[in-house]
Amino acid sequence: TETLHIVGGGMAGSEAAWQAARAGLRVVIHEMRPKIGTFAHHTGHLAEMVCSNSFRSDDDEQNAVGLLHWEMRRAGGLIMEMADRHRLPAGGALAVDRDAFAVAVTEKLKSHANIDVQGTEIDHIPREGHWIIATGPLTSGALAQAIRAETGADQLAFFDAIAPIVHADTIDLSAAWRQSRYDKGETEDELTAYINCPMDRDTYEAFIDALLAAEKTEFHEGETAQYFDGCLPIEVMAERGRETLRHGPMKPVGLTNPHAPDVKPWAVVQLRRDNALGTLYNIVGFQTKMKYGAQAAVFRMIPGLQNAGFARLGGIHRNTFINSPTLLDHELRLKSRPNLRFAGQITGVEGYVESAAMGLLAGRFALAEIAGRAVPPVPPTTAMGALVSHITGGADAKTFQPMNVNFGLFPPVDLKGGRRNRPARYKAYTDRAKADWAAWLETTAAPLPA
Ligand code: FAD
Repeated sequence: TETLHIVGGGMAGSEAAWQAARAGLRVVIHEMRPKIGTFAHHTGHLAEMVCSNSFRSDDDEQNAVGLLHWEMRRAGGLIMEMADRHRLPAGGALAVDRDAFAVAVTEKLKSHANIDVQGTEIDHIPREGHWIIATGPLTSGALAQAIRAETGADQLAFFDAIAPIVHADTIDLSAAWRQSRYDKGETEDELTAYINCPMDRDTYEAFIDALLAAEKTEFHEGETAQYFDGCLPIEVMAERGRETLRHGPMKPVGLTNPHAPDVKPWAVVQLRRDNALGTLYNIVGFQTKMKYGAQAAVFRMIPGLQNAGFARLGGIHRNTFINSPTLLDHELRLKSRPNLRFAGQITGVEGYVESAAMGLLAGRFALAEIAGRAVPPVPPTTAMGALVSHITGGADAKTFQPMNVNFGLFPPVDLKGGRRNRPARYKAYTDRAKADWAAWLETTAAPLPA
């Protein structure tokens, strides 16, 4: 009989194994810990939470990650079942007792008749059989090198340098304007790929002061080892000289402000369209180690962004991830070697929940393929579908950076006159998602024929 091999027993690998094994497939999990460790993991348990003990909001009507919880529960997800069982009081968030949670996931998988857990590092790209690579942000060096050799060196990153991402409908276009620098591009789409926010000299100086004063986070020990290659945080650029940003990412050249055509801006902050839907824009070159609390206040000093809503804030972290928009098909298969799937954080999603979610999909896709069943595409109106569509196609491959689930990834809902009413809009997103996810699950539910 066919076996599904899963490399990495973290959030994604554990969920993928569960989804496949409970439907009758034989699964081998190859997990290198505890024999080989990482700087962030401290135990030999599967599904170890490496930092916070929170799965974030559990609100499945107003929050996209809460909706993802709902979808995973509905699919019989192991990570959600064990998180619910070991839940700690935390208001609207789903916080868990991390050790009890990881021990429970480990026991459930190790005691499953269809699952074999092997304590080995996989250091090569397997040529045969069905595989899911779910080795996470701290993929071992040998395997990372093998993936680079397979995909091309520029297709695997060792850091994410995340520029903050803004919801397009919160950008004030009475202060900002759409234009590509030097009007580069040809189509209307290319010419409007950027939104520009002008700064006069006083605003710029105040902005630099705020950057320098803001609280920053430190790199973890061992995190920067040999990988950090010149994508400097903006506050570090500002430390090198007050003019550095004005000659770098904030240079005011090649742009004309239609709101004040005769005034040359002192500096310009550019935002670039971040998804095909045009609902999200990233602030170009603004990767930062500023603390989250400080970021929103500092970025809202930018004219046009005074009311900005952030789909995600900026950061720089050690993170191994592939360029999924170029490399993976819509079923998370490596196009050049379709016997391999990728799942979890290595696909360019970010967070425990998102990683487990991609594991859930990969496990189900692999199962269906081995059973010889076709699976319809996951509806992009669901949290699962929005996320997998983003990483495997919707995101811009050239600027691809890891993504959290958020409503900006969803096709807009058509609410007559009610678009400004956020609670109603989010409720409409989640109602639509739940119906579509339930229908999709029906089509993929059948267990393996005995
Ligand atoms: P992991 O959970 O890391 O699992 C990957 C597994 O693969 C590991 O068990 C590893 O030992 C194993 N492995 C690696 N290479 C090999 C190999 N070659 N052979 C065999 N096994 C291998 N997310 C949050 O939501 N909240 C947070 O607070 C948070 N903090 C983070 C802090 C740090 C320092 C890092 C690095 C990440 C953090 N993340 C956080 C992101 C978090 O790691 C991921 O969201 C999640 O754990 C990723 O799930 P995964 O299954 O993709 O990877």
